[in-house]
Amino acid sequence: MSASRTGIGWDSHRLAEGRPLVLGGITIPHTHGLDGHSDADVLAHAITDALLGAACLGDIGEHFPDTDEAFRGADSLALLREAVVRCAAAGWAPVHADATLVMERPKVKAHKPAMEEALAAALGLRGADVNVKASTGEGIGFVGREEGVAALATVTVERVPATTSSSARPRI
Ligand code: MG
Repeated sequence: MSASRTGIGWDSHRLAEGRPLVLGGITIPHTHGLDGHSDADVLAHAITDALLGAACLGDIGEHFPDTDEAFRGADSLALLREAVVRCAAAGWAPVHADATLVMERPKVKAHKPAMEEALAAALGLRGADVNVKASTGEGIGFVGREEGVAALATVTVERVPATTSSSARPRI
């Protein structure tokens, strides 16, 4: 059995007035934020899906359904931390994450180090093991029209001794 695996993740959320813009756990000043059942952190969601994919544990919607009131307004980094616990229970630990935000505005370059540190902390990694990139929609498509924001991610996991199921309790 291979000792490492890589998963991919993709997510998009609609931009709306009156919502905070939370990306990678960092709230960024902007006229609009992302709409969704949780805090709609599109970057954290893509990374969570990539992590679950690497561990062959399904997807974020199966683990944290948007029909569940428990997850209304949820801190997506808390969901990511819980996904890390569930992966550990299955014998997989993240070792690297790379992600791309696809959004028109605002520029997020200044916030990338803080996002990387916050995401790394949730993944149990060092900031140097997490990379966040940013791209734009060049004025076309839903991103270019500033209707929404998308994110892509890969996460690589390595085989670790599986934790007991008792430690996989939800802790969000
Ligand atoms: Mg999402």
